[in-house]
Amino acid sequence: MTTGKINVSVENIFPLIKKFLYSDHEIFLRELVSNATDATLKLKHLTSIGEAKVEYGKPMIEVKIDKDAKKIHIIDQGLGMTAEEVEKYINQVAFSGAEEFLEKYKDSAKDSGIIGHFGLGFYSAFMVAEKVEIITKSYKDEPAAHWTCDGSPEFTLVAHDKTERGTEIILHVAEDSLEFLEESKIGQLLTKYNKFMPVPIKFGTKKEALPKPEDAGDDYKTEYVDVDNIINNPNPAWTKQPTDLKDEDYAAFYRELYPMQFEEPLFNIHLNVDYPFNLTGILYFPKLDANLQVQKDKIQLYQNQVFVTDNVEGIVPEFLVMLRGVIDSPDIPLNVSRSYLQADGNVKKISNYITRKVADKLKSLFNENREDFEQKWNDIKIVLEYGMLSEPKFYEKAGDFVLYPTVDGKFYTLAELKEALKDSQTDKNGNLVVLYASNQDAQHSYIDIAKEKGYQVLLLDSPIVSHLIQKLEADNEKLTFARVDADHIDKLIPKDEAQISKLSEEESTQLKTVLEGIVPNTTYSVQLEAMDSHAAPFIITQPEFMRRMKEMSQSGGGGMFGMGNLPEMYNLVVNTNSDLASTILKADTSVQESLVKQALDLAKISQGLLKGEELTAFVKRSFELIK
Ligand code: ADP
Ligand code: MG
Repeated sequence: MTTGKINVSVENIFPLIKKFLYSDHEIFLRELVSNATDATLKLKHLTSIGEAKVEYGKPMIEVKIDKDAKKIHIIDQGLGMTAEEVEKYINQVAFSGAEEFLEKYKDSAKDSGIIGHFGLGFYSAFMVAEKVEIITKSYKDEPAAHWTCDGSPEFTLVAHDKTERGTEIILHVAEDSLEFLEESKIGQLLTKYNKFMPVPIKFGTKKEALPKPEDAGDDYKTEYVDVDNIINNPNPAWTKQPTDLKDEDYAAFYRELYPMQFEEPLFNIHLNVDYPFNLTGILYFPKLDANLQVQKDKIQLYQNQVFVTDNVEGIVPEFLVMLRGVIDSPDIPLNVSRSYLQADGNVKKISNYITRKVADKLKSLFNENREDFEQKWNDIKIVLEYGMLSEPKFYEKAGDFVLYPTVDGKFYTLAELKEALKDSQTDKNGNLVVLYASNQDAQHSYIDIAKEKGYQVLLLDSPIVSHLIQKLEADNEKLTFARVDADHIDKLIPKDEAQISKLSEEESTQLKTVLEGIVPNTTYSVQLEAMDSHAAPFIITQPEFMRRMKEMSQSGGGGMFGMGNLPEMYNLVVNTNSDLASTILKADTSVQESLVKQALDLAKISQGLLKGEELTAFVKRSFELIK
């Protein structure tokens, strides 16, 4: 047997790091600015605990482009490095000075906001640079150092005459990365990744108007001066305490996050925990337009104020990904694959915490101002209904605030609804039958019929409502839902006395035979019903079960239910007490046919079913009739 050590030489690994460490080359800037920020925050910490006896001052970080010389400079006024420290921190790949610092100052530095982690960030510079220089002067009384490396494992380290404290990183941009010498490109990257970092970042200068002097005449021309162009807001709202923020601060931060969004959000949720994981953030409930697909303003994920991604899948519960805002947590492992992320215990806890906070907020909004909550209902219902379906923890809490509006603009919670309907809408089997419409215009005549009978009709018009209803029925004993145009409606115990048919048994059989001879029986099943003589003579209903299965198979469950295309099936309910029924019965065969066709078409119109060729034929026939 032979044992031994596999020889991993740096020569082999270096190009791998360059190529594969990060899929996105552009993150080099984020990493270098993060290091500059860490260096500044470390100095801040050391001066605050008296370990560094230097003036902290008002340090900033500067990013500069020298397009002609093909160089990018990142300059900080942080703690710097001695030559010895350069050897230790830079020359050892995968040794993180940030972690070492946090370890050393464990108790005092835990909230210092240090970003670094894996000791690999610095090398991302070689993804865009063919040569990198570090010129650095420590806060300690030691000479500055100058490190140069061309991307091979060889480097040089010599003394330098830099006197001011801090570090300058110089990237000699490689030929294949010249795009990073464009001011617009770097500006865009700084805005994307560094917009809320804790140390001010200067990128170029901008013109600022001088105040108009008091004695200026009419011909005064505004004068401008060059000032530092600071690209970031070091103290974004989410890093502050909720008690220190007013409504307008939240609104202002929303605009800062999404400058192109003109619609105000409906409300916000401030996230703030530090045990058992660390997480801060602000989520906004936007007004969602029907077009949910087009979503470019997403929730942004930060770690210690550094932008990481706007793909929060797996971290934020799925039903909340339509919200906007930021989440900042150093505890989300992002160096691992997404599938691993979902299995991570911390991440699951974070997702549950967000669900709970959102539910709590909704409950308090509901309790504090129900009227206002009802007004917002239409804009938030999709998210909430989807949450009830997809997140059991949310479903448990939803009873407290999820609303069921009626077509008349009344709003019930489920408990209130059960109470309100228990006397008037219970069927023979003791089931509470909740009638609902999904489209107030299309089902207008049916809504009218139900209301005339004294029933309440809900307006449930979200696309996923059939799934939700199915769930509510499964979880609530003796609760059923039926759409107003469903066959169910007549199974309710009638409010007034049951109607007695004007037709004899024999006449009824005769009428049914006539109808079935004319109405296409592949689509319609004819049912005779004795109703009020003023009620519509012909009504089309669809079996609740049929329609719901169809809807569910369309809205995503298609594969799940394995039902392909279900046929269209309707009931044609004919009111035997209507005058039309008697007329049809007595008419000649040819007149019978046109009467039935005309009446069927009218019933179809009121269900929105008459289209195309049929509609044309109907219009033509109608003109004939009134000619
Ligand atoms: P990490 O930030 O995860 O520790 P990096 O590879 O980004 O790893 O950086 C390695 C180390 O080099 C840092 O931890 C720090 O000690 C040192 N370093 C990098 N950039 C600077 C800088 N601008 N000023 C001072 N030290 C720095
Ligand atoms: Mg780093």
